[in-house]
Amino acid sequence: MTEKVRSKIDIRVPESAPAGDAWAQFRGVERIAMELTQSYKYSLGKYSRFFMELENGRFLATRCHGCGKVYAPPRPLCPNCLAVTDWVELSGEGVVKTYSVLRFSPGSNDDVRALETPYVLAYVLLDGADTLFPHLLKAAPDQAHSGLRVRVAYSDEPVHHPIHLMYFVPVADSERQQP
Ligand SMILES: [Zn+2]
Repeated sequence: MTEKVRSKIDIRVPESAPAGDAWAQFRGVERIAMELTQSYKYSLGKYSRFFMELENGRFLATRCHGCGKVYAPPRPLCPNCLAVTDWVELSGEGVVKTYSVLRFSPGSNDDVRALETPYVLAYVLLDGADTLFPHLLKAAPDQAHSGLRVRVAYSDEPVHHPIHLMYFVPVADSERQQP
């Protein structure tokens, strides 16, 4: 047996076939490991400005001028009033409401594959916002807790998807505003 096929896992041949087996000549089965990748283009549409401003180190949300609700992540349309919203800039500070420690990475794109496990995903209520923003929190898993003050940090490294231009980090004691 040669090893000319690098993707080969094994060849399975049944020891015996029942008499009259119509598929007798086809019972030997070769298994190979294949990988499927697909590149595609998509538009960030009405959310584009949020991602473009991340490159400038600015964190934007949207506010409904009808009910005043502030959406982070932004929504172009308020689901309560069906009114078109306005862009507003937030400080990027907030508080962790809940979180999850990922010990296995979905590895869904190059940015996610670059993350070492375990890592923390947190739902953050940003100051001035009314909705939760789920994203990566760069903190040790045992440091994460509900109520942790965090802020948006901006990546200096090139990223694949612009959402990875930002991540959350704990607000250091030295950064904390004095009451
Ligand atoms: Zn509204």
